[in-house]
Amino acid sequence: MIVMKFGGSSVADADRIRHVAGIVRSQLERKPVLVLSAMGDTTDYLLEAGNAAFRGGEVSIGPIEKHHFDTASKLNLPEAAKLEIESLLDELRRLLSGISLIRELTPRTKDFLVSFGERLSVRIFAAHLNSLGIKAVGCDAWDVGFISDSNFTSAELVEESRELIRAKITSMIDSGVLPVVTGFIAKDSNGDITTLGRGGSDLSATMIAAACGAQEAQVWKDVDGILTADPRIVERAMPVEMVTYEEASELAYFGAQVLHPRAMQPCISTGTPVLVKNSYNIDAPGTRVVATLNQKAAPVRAITFRKNVTLVDLVSTRMLGQYGFLAELFASFAKHRVSVDVVATSEVSVSLTIDSGQDISALKSDLARIGNIEVKTGKAIITIICNVKRSTEILARAFGICQLVGVPVQMISQGASKVNISFIVDDTEAEEVVQALHQDFFGFALGEKLAV
Ligand code: ASP
Ligand code: MG
Repeated sequence: MIVMKFGGSSVADADRIRHVAGIVRSQLERKPVLVLSAMGDTTDYLLEAGNAAFRGGEVSIGPIEKHHFDTASKLNLPEAAKLEIESLLDELRRLLSGISLIRELTPRTKDFLVSFGERLSVRIFAAHLNSLGIKAVGCDAWDVGFISDSNFTSAELVEESRELIRAKITSMIDSGVLPVVTGFIAKDSNGDITTLGRGGSDLSATMIAAACGAQEAQVWKDVDGILTADPRIVERAMPVEMVTYEEASELAYFGAQVLHPRAMQPCISTGTPVLVKNSYNIDAPGTRVVATLNQKAAPVRAITFRKNVTLVDLVSTRMLGQYGFLAELFASFAKHRVSVDVVATSEVSVSLTIDSGQDISALKSDLARIGNIEVKTGKAIITIICNVKRSTEILARAFGICQLVGVPVQMISQGASKVNISFIVDDTEAEEVVQALHQDFFGFALGEKLAV
């Protein structure tokens, strides 16, 4: 079997749903299980409705209701399906009245609230498949084994889920039914609805694929795959053919918002491939996420960057031959709740980056007790996602490029993650460096030698 996951924009309206049903139909013999997000931006609208109820005591789901009913009508869904939608919307209205009365919107209630998006979309989609003669059943995640901890808005699935999911899903497939499962949501052991974090339906899909030993998990998006760079900055950014699970997770953290950062986790132990495809451009090959790449793969997978970073330099001769110095240093960051991203140290100095825009005056006076501190704002982190085994070659090229464009590198860090080399430059120069690096690492691959 395979798992096919469709994101919000892939199932945004009746036309998209018809189109996606066509994609599903073309792969029926592979025994698909579907995982869906809420239609379009429904999750955001639900959160807005929750806030309106909480702040102003107003209960209004007009646009959400209209959009789901319009879609049901355009798809000519039978009365029974419309009744199911109606009853979910009634429950949603009651929840919002509750929020407006008690003026309380806890993380637990928020998860209950946003769950309606996925619960509505799977019912509409399953009804549409049935009207096409494909026997499908819309399922809430908790009915097919998704049990999580109680960390509302960012829950983790518990280990028992795997076996439960395997048993439930395979028995449905064996009885000739196509399961259409809600992404993003689960229930904790008390029976309360939880969510796996925004964008979490990727994780729902990979979990089902790994649990059931699927041939692959297809994640259908509105882009051609994971790209070599941000296309808004690099015109020639192109889809990466293959990346490893580690590289894909690292990319997710560093800004390429294609896959959920935790989505690869369930597949690591099973080696299940994840295929990122574009539902708007079916013929594009997409990106394949796998356990390992062969030796001949290009050394660099993608180049990302993050602006608005502050560089903190701390120099102290006390550090020489000492122990516990770094512990003391990081304890200060912990105490002031400032999160550190990239770090480099020598015998007498530490450089690290934090996100700009935080008040760090108290932290600064704490650190001043340890050593001489210098804070430089307006920096950017450039990250090369690559095979770090070839770091000598990659660094030589990257530094050559920086020299060529006349941009000084202010700090460098090669993480233990084996897939990431990061360095710091001035904010104003980041885009130019990314463009030049992209041209060097990917430009020639296109057979077009361009002047920097
Ligand atoms: N609907 C949820 C969100 O918008 C989950 C998802 O799309 O994966 O974050
Ligand atoms: Mg979404």
